[in-house]
Amino acid sequence: MIDCHTHCDSRSSEDFELMYTSGIDTVISCAYYPYHLMNEIVYLNHLERILNYDTKRAKKYGLDLKVALGIHPTNTEINPELIYENLYKYIENDEIIAIGEIGLENLTDTEYEIFKQQLIIADETNTKVIIHTPRKNKRAVLSEIKKVVNNNIDPKLVVIDHINKNVIGDVIDDGYTLGLTVQPQKMNVDEAIDILDNYGFDKFLLNSDMSNKPSDPLSVVKTIRELDKLNYKKSEINKISHENAIKFFNL
Ligand SMILES: [Zn+2]
Repeated sequence: MIDCHTHCDSRSSEDFELMYTSGIDTVISCAYYPYHLMNEIVYLNHLERILNYDTKRAKKYGLDLKVALGIHPTNTEINPELIYENLYKYIENDEIIAIGEIGLENLTDTEYEIFKQQLIIADETNTKVIIHTPRKNKRAVLSEIKKVVNNNIDPKLVVIDHINKNVIGDVIDDGYTLGLTVQPQKMNVDEAIDILDNYGFDKFLLNSDMSNKPSDPLSVVKTIRELDKLNYKKSEINKISHENAIKFFNL
């Protein structure tokens, strides 16, 4: 099983052990700095920690940790140039599987500029992007995200994440891959299964988004096991459990 969106930087080794022994093989860890950011050096240090430290920490417990780096929309109060330079380097060296997570949160001018620039880098280098949609104002921000995405990058490179039943109709026919986040305060197992039941298994990736906020490191496992218990076809469950992620990210 693959958990397609996490923030392992703020999680414990015990979580890695629990995930691995529960059947998770691969975890994608994204950039997001939940504390006060003094400057871009602090942010670069966060990115380097995911890349060089969390990958090794996870491996000790059997987990294959893949990395997505970028400037999170809530971390945009920095000079982004140093981070752009490093993103080119990470892509060139095949150190990251995507730019992420990026997106919009409060719709400030800086957020738009940094989001757009990262989409341009991704399109230019044929790199996948993982795009965050906020808890608040999701529909309005999603509509802005779609405009910026459609003007700057091939939708085939794009995962739009944290999609729920209220906004799924806005993105289901647009050629993006869609992320379902099963996390306390976002969506529960039944709601995720309801979406899969209604829209099919082909377009979706599953994740816990585990971070410093209330999270369940086993939410992907619980969703897959529940689908199994409800007798969904093995071939369909496999898509959401790992096949779609392997195909999309070329894992
Ligand atoms: Zn996230």
